[in-house]
Amino acid sequence: MKEPAAPDLYSALDGVSWPVLVTAMVQGEHVISYANAAFSAMCGHPIAELVGRDDDFLDGLTTDRSVKADMQAVLTEGRGIRRTIVTTRKDGTPYRTDVAIDPIRNASGRVTHLISIYRPTDDTGDPAATIGEVDTNLPSIAEHLPGYIYRVIMRTDGTIDTVYRSASLAQMLGTDNSQVMRTFDNLVYPDDHDAVYAALRKSAAGMSVFREEFRLVASNGTLHWLRSRAMPRRTPNGEITWDGIAIESSAEERWESEIANQASRDPLTGLLTRAAWLQALESELTAERSESATCAVICSDISAFSALNERLGQIAGDTILRETAKRLAKLAASIGGVAARLGGDEFAIMIPDCADQESLSLCVGSLSEAFAQPMQIGTECLTVLTCIGATFNQRLENETMADKGIASEVMTQAEIALRWAKQSGRNTPMLYSPEQDDRHRNEAVLARSLEHAIANDELELHYQPLVELASGRIVSAEALVRWKHPTLGMQRPDRFIPLAETSGLIVPLGRWVLEQAFRQHRLWTSAGLAPPPVAVNVSGNQLMEPGFVALVEEALKSQGANAANFEIELTEGLLVEPSPQIMASLHALRTMGFTIAIDDFGSGHATFRYLRDFPVDKLKIDQIFVRKLVLESTDALIIRAIISLARSMGIGLVAEGIETDMQRSFLQQEGCAVGQGYLFSMPLVAEDFTWMLAHNVSLPMRGPVEQAVPGSPTGPDAVTGAQLG
Ligand code: C2E
Ligand code: CA
Ligand code: CA
Repeated sequence: MKEPAAPDLYSALDGVSWPVLVTAMVQGEHVISYANAAFSAMCGHPIAELVGRDDDFLDGLTTDRSVKADMQAVLTEGRGIRRTIVTTRKDGTPYRTDVAIDPIRNASGRVTHLISIYRPTDDTGDPAATIGEVDTNLPSIAEHLPGYIYRVIMRTDGTIDTVYRSASLAQMLGTDNSQVMRTFDNLVYPDDHDAVYAALRKSAAGMSVFREEFRLVASNGTLHWLRSRAMPRRTPNGEITWDGIAIESSAEERWESEIANQASRDPLTGLLTRAAWLQALESELTAERSESATCAVICSDISAFSALNERLGQIAGDTILRETAKRLAKLAASIGGVAARLGGDEFAIMIPDCADQESLSLCVGSLSEAFAQPMQIGTECLTVLTCIGATFNQRLENETMADKGIASEVMTQAEIALRWAKQSGRNTPMLYSPEQDDRHRNEAVLARSLEHAIANDELELHYQPLVELASGRIVSAEALVRWKHPTLGMQRPDRFIPLAETSGLIVPLGRWVLEQAFRQHRLWTSAGLAPPPVAVNVSGNQLMEPGFVALVEEALKSQGANAANFEIELTEGLLVEPSPQIMASLHALRTMGFTIAIDDFGSGHATFRYLRDFPVDKLKIDQIFVRKLVLESTDALIIRAIISLARSMGIGLVAEGIETDMQRSFLQQEGCAVGQGYLFSMPLVAEDFTWMLAHNVSLPMRGPVEQAVPGSPTGPDAVTGAQLG
């Protein structure tokens, strides 16, 4: 009897006449996963009685316990051991046996299994009868190996000889055994020859394990990669002997990954491993059940776990992982879910019958609560922060259900949600949604390509007129940046300015905007158009940059511009906590001749009294008050308050977002002289604004265009000259 791991390996071992035992590492215990008939015969336990049990039960009173400690070394140091041990049969009689224990690693290099090959010595314990002895047993094990067994000897004069190679080598290379024995050196790929011998000498010098990868050339010319390892032994006559095994790398890797895939329990926490859990999820998602049934997945991850691990040590780190796993498993059990450790500090629960989003939220809530409980780690009482992402998968129609990899798809969704939770910087659990995903994806694409936008000439400045409400005359223009993205199309600043700010790209972008605005103004002047002042938006982060004022000065100089023709618009958010740096920059800009305007005034958290300390020339009433404006509403009150404030302080005033005649007349009536909004014009490409200046138009222009434009933020961003004409 055996577990279905590594069928190749196990069926190969079935035919071996030496006793063989394979143990899997489960939660620090050695659980027998395979025993062959020879092992069963040796110890007297039927195979069925062996598999699945901790190998401790094989120990008798006379068992040498030191071998257990050595096995630990196999695990921690990954080296094989050779021992003669005394152990006990089922009937209680002690017996003596040689054992070679070697680690089996998974693809990531972790030791997952130990393989022990025994050779019972006669009961007198004849030391000559040791495991490495070449005898009639060898060919039978070797026949089944994707590789071969060998004995190499280094004589006292330093010469190295191979005295035995199993027949499987000749089979592998497609030649006959005598040929192999005679001309072995010719079979080693020439480039690898010296390395093999050098590794043997090194192993002999340090009596350390010989480990080498090399190629053999088959008779048909194909190359076989072999991986070999052996412990050197010194014989009484002073020679050094290696009894080793060389396995074809590809075959070995195949075994290892199969074993790893099948090892379904995480040794540290006892939860399912990622592979096993994904398999369970896959079968849950593809199971034939009621169509309305749904399956949810919650993923979680411990915040800054590596830092914790570093600070508290690995033992404490393991305790945190185990405690987290315990809480997860407890919740999973209470809701009929299945918990797993996905790897590292990442955990998951699958909830097979999650009725709806509300129940999922409840589960997520309970999990957050469980995680938020402090845990005792050594002498410290810690509260470990955990991020949570979840997804809710409506079970799909039959044909889609059969699709392979649906589990990993759902898994990806949960992990995406988890990433959002991490990025949010707060401990708020996130639920996956395709819309949100699209947004994030686009953002990621934008963030990556923003870097090249300036160099690729993808930015554009549009100009929105500001008009005197009484006459419709253009009194200034606001420069608004646009990004013509090569694949995603025209992007509004709200989509990319925040990205530019978090990535630091706002500095070069801001510089480009300033230079472009300065240049355009000069072009208009040279064309004799008497352009009005142009306002440029500047974000708080730009102002915080220590070199910002110098950058503006340089841009002015390079474009031959005069600061008196420009305004700087700042968002009100800045006023909440004006740093000395920002105050200094504003004063410097004002001294240079710029007009300073506060954008979106009234919507931020700042109180009006901050205005006193700021060098401000102008307020722009936030468009949210204008948009919802109904006479005698609170918005009307706020607008009136802002207007009287500006008046009392002698500050200029602009109303933004005017879309209707009603809004315009209200503002005009209340004493706001200047306005901006779709009623007059959308932001225009430079040529169209040029056209307006050249024709000295007053706004709004009455005509067919007007119907298409006002109140439609999704409408055409720029009105073309043709339409205007
Ligand atoms: P903002 O400074 O408040 O700019 C006004 C925004 O309102 C512009 O959006 C404009 O197109 C829009 N708008 C104008 N009239 C109307 C109207 O009647 N109704 C409605 N619903 N909207 C109107 P845009 O161009 O998308 O700009 C959004 C924000 O991006 C700007 O808000 C500004 O804060 C920022 N921004 C734009 N260009 C730059 C820049 O060069 N640098 C920086 N740092 N920020 C910029
Ligand atoms: Ca603005
Ligand atoms: Ca504004």
